[in-house]
Amino acid sequence: MNQILQKIQNFTALLNRYAYEYYTLDAPSVPDAEYDRLFRELEALEREYPEHRQPDSPTQRVGGAALAGFETVRHEVPMLSLNNAFSPQDENGVFDHAEMYAFDERVRGGLGAETPEYVIEPKFDGLAVSLLYRDGILVRAATRGDGTSGEDVTQNVKTIANIPLRLHGNHLPELIEVRGEVLMLKADFAALNQRQLESRQKPFANPRNAAAGSLRQLDSKITAQRKLHFFAYGIAQQQGGLTAAEHIQELAYLDGLGFSLPKGHYACFSNIAAVLAFYEQMQAERPDLPYEIDGMVVKVNSLAQQETLGFVSRAPRWAIAHKFPAEEALTIVEAIDVQVGRTGAVTPVARLQPVFVGGVTVTNATLHNEGETQRKDVRVGDTVVVRRAGDVIPEVVRVVWERRPMKTIDTVPAATLSDGLQNDLFADAAMPSEPVQTAQVPLYPQYRLPDACPICGSSIEREEGEAVARCSGGMLCQAQRAQGLIHFASRKMMDIDGLGQKHIEQLVAQDLVRHFADLYRLDIPTLQKMKENADAMPSANEPDGTAGLSDSLKKTSDGTAKKQPTKWAENILAGLEASKQPDLARFLFALGIRHVGERTAKVLAQAFGSLENVRRAPEPVLACLPDIGTVVARSIAQFFAQNEQQAMIDELLAVGVRPKEQAVTLPLAQYLAPERWIARLPGFKTSENKAAALWDLAGKSIEGLICDKALPAEWQQWRDIETNTVLLHTMCRFLAGMPSENTGGGSDGLHAAAAGKTFVLTGTLPTLKRDEAQAMIEAAGGKVSGSVSKKTDFVVAGEAAGSKLEKANALGIAVLDEAALLDLLKP
Ligand code: NAD
Repeated sequence: MNQILQKIQNFTALLNRYAYEYYTLDAPSVPDAEYDRLFRELEALEREYPEHRQPDSPTQRVGGAALAGFETVRHEVPMLSLNNAFSPQDENGVFDHAEMYAFDERVRGGLGAETPEYVIEPKFDGLAVSLLYRDGILVRAATRGDGTSGEDVTQNVKTIANIPLRLHGNHLPELIEVRGEVLMLKADFAALNQRQLESRQKPFANPRNAAAGSLRQLDSKITAQRKLHFFAYGIAQQQGGLTAAEHIQELAYLDGLGFSLPKGHYACFSNIAAVLAFYEQMQAERPDLPYEIDGMVVKVNSLAQQETLGFVSRAPRWAIAHKFPAEEALTIVEAIDVQVGRTGAVTPVARLQPVFVGGVTVTNATLHNEGETQRKDVRVGDTVVVRRAGDVIPEVVRVVWERRPMKTIDTVPAATLSDGLQNDLFADAAMPSEPVQTAQVPLYPQYRLPDACPICGSSIEREEGEAVARCSGGMLCQAQRAQGLIHFASRKMMDIDGLGQKHIEQLVAQDLVRHFADLYRLDIPTLQKMKENADAMPSANEPDGTAGLSDSLKKTSDGTAKKQPTKWAENILAGLEASKQPDLARFLFALGIRHVGERTAKVLAQAFGSLENVRRAPEPVLACLPDIGTVVARSIAQFFAQNEQQAMIDELLAVGVRPKEQAVTLPLAQYLAPERWIARLPGFKTSENKAAALWDLAGKSIEGLICDKALPAEWQQWRDIETNTVLLHTMCRFLAGMPSENTGGGSDGLHAAAAGKTFVLTGTLPTLKRDEAQAMIEAAGGKVSGSVSKKTDFVVAGEAAGSKLEKANALGIAVLDEAALLDLLKP
């Protein structure tokens, strides 16, 4: 018996603490479902052992205490809570509405001969507010508080845009007390939390807490900045105006007085089955609503019947909160792994003890990225709140700190430790004020992304300013392989005719192809094997383009497959053969280097002319090229710095792929002027002007930059780092190795008039097609843009040129016809 009493006391104390965090601090530490579970357990215990019920039992109370700082308002009509009903779902999603049928029976029992009608409406997940209007003017607004008295939040409520300060319509009451819910729309909540994070403030746990925290601000200017909404759901008292006999009429009256109602989401029914059908429909719509609801409220429609039914301690008998399945639940993190996506994005994922949430059993939840994981400080062993709303991927919302597994470590008095060691040791511990012998620290360390990809072992990298880390393995990483091969074979890249996306997926799934070069080693037997295996797998998709070729594998009468020459496979091989001499730009685009799209690939081809030059171009050289910034330059340099990538290119060359060489058409001397590349050296921050001065000081030579002892200190410091000296030597070799017309200045005057210039094409040219004109301009080092701006150098106008020509004239930009363009491009 004592144990029961102990249990009741513990539950009471725990629930009271949770209620204080929720109602008073607006900062719950556990999800509502956890609170509800404990609450129901306590209710059951109290039913069985009423003698042990504690005087401060939460089952006998409403809400929480008022915050100091607000005036207290006594509610003339108490603001009560609602009893809850739950409808568990089986694995097929079928609801068990037993608790709601029991409610219906209780209501019928209470009404005797009368039959009830029900109004079903959203149960808003916000906070209850009472609004008092005298002669149509809002005179007082109060929170629910403990149900008997709440906080006077009139000033704050006046900042809520959809609350009428003066009532509308012709049937104004002398006095009316409107009850409703203040809430924050999901979109406004997301924006608020974003701002909180940006200003390094704690984000709110959910829209309800954000709404409550915003309304209960002592400074109403802060409330005004938070976008709050109000929905009305009832009238507590009224003098004058229209008198309603039904709840549904009250709602219509409130609508007429100027209040917002959840239009389309409430209805009146004459039987409980229809109510339950509406509930199920609303549950399906729940994720798409602009605000959070945690269930539906079902109320007896007739106000006279409501009066007959009356109240039990803390809730009316004539209404019930029919809750939806919880979207948040508690579980334990068993491990944190990383998942590598098809683009190499590395996402930390929490492996969880299975938990039923949002209607499904969840075993994994995303932690988004390393930064998020560290900000939330999610560790192995932690009890966490997991959220799954609608079809959204489940996520870990926060850690329940008090349940974090800790360990005790021996410590040495602080004075005997060096500072550094002491900091490390106590990084997570609450530092005792006096030197002590033991300390409590978390059992598991803070999470860090692994350095290497768990799939392929390549390094995991994160670019500055980017939240997402990526596996740098590219094609070497199986997670990225199929995607990389599909990209490689596509029309704008290697343009391999006949080889469809599904073929590639099959080839990768069956491990028949790993790298680009493997494609060129395919033969008919291998392709046939792929198809046979794919056909044998019932779930596998039929590879594209094989359907019409089913004769190739005709079944004989005894059911065995008879191999026949396969046209489809021959087509693929022919497509591969025909793709072996791509333009250099297409080849570079096909490699799938991060940040290298069609345009950047073209610039690289125009700047270097050959694959050999591109694959050894140092980062500062790349960063000097038009349209290539430091991020893109680093990505290209990192790609080619990997031995595996270089080996992959060598293999492609070995199987006969020969990207075409082309004339260098960019005025490299101009782009690679010393002050430009010096100002782009990684880690050496300087302007081009200062870089020019440094170049002069160094005697206008890279050797001078490397050796001269009389150069500015910041340069010497940068240069003294070994990798930087190596980079300078590489620069020296690279620049010397470039064909002289590229770097020598002047001799690229062939197309000087077009190089680096921006052209806009408009109208129909007499002989040239638009893509031909574009190709010629680009071959001459120019750029073609789609719209005219101050940066445009030439507008090439043909017949029926429209607004672009007008704009060019307005901006005073040179306009060329086809003949003038050809003249300009002439070598
Ligand atoms: P309730 O959820 O039991 O229901 C009563 C409230 O519903 C009203 O006060 C009103 O604000 C609201 N409501 C919304 N739409 C309504 C409508 N259309 N008509 C009438 N009322 C409507 O409220 P409660 O008594 O404040 O709190 C109990 C709930 O709060 C628990 O079930 C739990 O989910 C949550 N809670 C959570 C914690 C926690 O630590 N996570 C702590 C305490 C309470």
